[in-house]
Amino acid sequence: RAKQLQRQMAILSQTKAELQASELRYRLIADNVDDVIWALDTQGNFTFISPSLKSLLDYGAEQWIGKPLINLLAPASATALEVALGQLLHQQQSADAILPSYRAELEHLHRDGSRFWTEITMKPLRGEDGSLVGCVGVTRDIRVRKIYERNLSEARDAAEEANTALLSANALLHGRATTDGLTGLLNRRHFEDMLRVQMMTSIEHGKSLSLLVIDVDKFKEINDGLGHTQGDKILIEVSHLLAASLREPDRLARWGGDEFIMVMPRVQPDEALQVANRLCESVFRHPFPGGWLVTLSIGVAELRAHESLEEWFDRADAALYAVKNSGRNAARLSA
Ligand code: GH3
Ligand code: MG
Repeated sequence: RAKQLQRQMAILSQTKAELQASELRYRLIADNVDDVIWALDTQGNFTFISPSLKSLLDYGAEQWIGKPLINLLAPASATALEVALGQLLHQQQSADAILPSYRAELEHLHRDGSRFWTEITMKPLRGEDGSLVGCVGVTRDIRVRKIYERNLSEARDAAEEANTALLSANALLHGRATTDGLTGLLNRRHFEDMLRVQMMTSIEHGKSLSLLVIDVDKFKEINDGLGHTQGDKILIEVSHLLAASLREPDRLARWGGDEFIMVMPRVQPDEALQVANRLCESVFRHPFPGGWLVTLSIGVAELRAHESLEEWFDRADAALYAVKNSGRNAARLSA
């Protein structure tokens, strides 16, 4: 019996030594990590706090034992944590259920009154009988991470802003490159590029493509009589009258000076001539400032197979000059 007692004593002292070693290990961790490790009772009051509370909030750990964790948080964070604690600790859990954990970014109050962001992770704790006895948790300082996150988001905003500016500058440049500054119509270069594509499409599909070369009659006289600025206004007004008659997929451009070009896909030449006559009519009838009479001469030509852009234009131009030579204010179809 004495021997048995001796053996039990030996086991007991070995268990005690192991327990001490284990506690030492945990204390070593709790004492040396930067994070604050803590435990709460079911009321949310501290039952354990690691000494790192001193470096995080400038409080001694022992003075907070028995006090609520939420008192160390900014009001909105305190409310959030209170709700979370309620859910973790007071929900009915069966004894063998896997307990949920909680993780959130919460704002702590430093002893000097300042606030800063931390990340809190916690998990409920069961007693030996399986009932919930509180929580264990870790509080981590995430100020540096927050600064990185803010810098990153600022950099992202700046990049987005630069991108928007670039896009609008690009749109502006594209607009300038493709439109005429005075009338806002398409400019010659852009129109020519577009026309070459339309020529290929219409030949490929065997559809007609009609061209109107439009020139203001005696525009030099308008400039001389009213001045260049008034002349500009009349050009703008003419461009509006022409644009008003456009139908999809017709396109209109300012070719230069007092000359405009209109292209009408899938429109037969006699129909194009009718449109041209209507344009002459509408400009002739339009009351321009100062009662000045403005008229147009228009040459019309339908694209022929195997014809180049230049040859096509030359035919429309020839029709235009025939109109000019026979009294102006009219439209004529190319031979
Ligand atoms: P025609 O009936 O033969 O066409 O006679 P015209 O006087 O209109 O002669 P032309 O078409 O050759 O002359 C066009 C004039 O348009 C010459 C130029 O001084 C003037 N002009 C060209 N561009 C502009 C412009 O942007 N604004 C103004 N106000 N005048 C321009
Ligand atoms: Mg002219």
